[in-house]
Amino acid sequence: MPGIYVHVPFCAAKCGYCDFHSIVADGSFVGNYIRAFQQEAAYYGRKYQNQVFETLFFGGGTPTVLEPKQLSQMIEAVLENFNFNSGFEFTIEANPCTLGQEKVDHLAILGVNRISLGVQTFQDNLLKRLERLHSTADIYTSVEYLRKAGINNFNLDLMYGLPEQSLRDWETSLDAAIALQPTHLSCYSLILEEDTPFFEQYNQGLLNLPSEDLEYEMFELVKNKLRQAGYQHYEVSNYALKEEYQAKHNLIYWHNQPYLGLGSGAHSYMEQSRYVNSLDLNRYIENWLDNQPAIDHIELISEDQAMDETMMLGLRLLDGVEEAVFAKRFGQTIMEVYAEEIEELLAKKLVIWENGRLKLTDRGLSLGNHVFSAFIR
Ligand code: SF4
Repeated sequence: MPGIYVHVPFCAAKCGYCDFHSIVADGSFVGNYIRAFQQEAAYYGRKYQNQVFETLFFGGGTPTVLEPKQLSQMIEAVLENFNFNSGFEFTIEANPCTLGQEKVDHLAILGVNRISLGVQTFQDNLLKRLERLHSTADIYTSVEYLRKAGINNFNLDLMYGLPEQSLRDWETSLDAAIALQPTHLSCYSLILEEDTPFFEQYNQGLLNLPSEDLEYEMFELVKNKLRQAGYQHYEVSNYALKEEYQAKHNLIYWHNQPYLGLGSGAHSYMEQSRYVNSLDLNRYIENWLDNQPAIDHIELISEDQAMDETMMLGLRLLDGVEEAVFAKRFGQTIMEVYAEEIEELLAKKLVIWENGRLKLTDRGLSLGNHVFSAFIR
């Protein structure tokens, strides 16, 4: 069953490393965006009136930068127009300094049952270096708000490979995160993106990033520490306290299943097509206020592409890609399609067959991009 992703392209300020689709906007612009979004939700709600969705994910940007009334308007627009499974996973991304008890209680009343908190690090000097607005103290208060509201299923997003970050710094953040016992942890390395202030600083020699070797040690540290702390490493960068806490919405992406994206810049994969909503916020608003879809790009996904993507995405999961599921979906076995590629990866000890599944080995886990790119035909 598909999931729904909603993009809220607003933030309180832009962080130096961020190239996500988000802007700092004022009240009237946000109001227009929400009105346009309500039109879009109604349009797709009619189109998919017989479809039951499995997950709902509000991401951004920073969805919780919105006022409670604005959050209600956006959330209700989705809940009133689409059908969901009972007890569906409903996640919202939040930044620690945008939460208060009242807002979190409000989200719980609206049905949010999972929060993904953009923590990044537990060290104030590094938070400042990243140009984040929150402090370490805000992280602890936010987690208290969540628990008081009964939202015990929460993810902490952490980042490593930060400027001036040592291995010891990274360990400090991991220890602090584990002590909070989140049900889920996502740990990504900082990626230097073009057209960001960090990229500019890097070009001027002002960004002191950890070496590749140190970054590798940081990756190994997450793996070992979180596994020792009882977290199940189920995706290259993701860990769950128990299987039931794996991010169901993200599993839809990793299983290469359909999803509907709503909001400016959101991606969809429905009916064998991928499409991207307009990144131009003014166009998105103008079109939808006039009840016209605002799509930048549509691509019909061929069977071959769908197979390649299923392998690339599925191998990110530590459980790998199940031969029987692949064969049922595509009418051919994995080996019939990728014998040559797989033989090569097996010889390099990057993948392994186990119980009818093709999986990354521990070595493959560290060289994931090399493995994934082997499946692009
Ligand atoms: S809060 Fe998140 S989305 Fe917003 S600017 Fe910072 S990194 Fe980007």
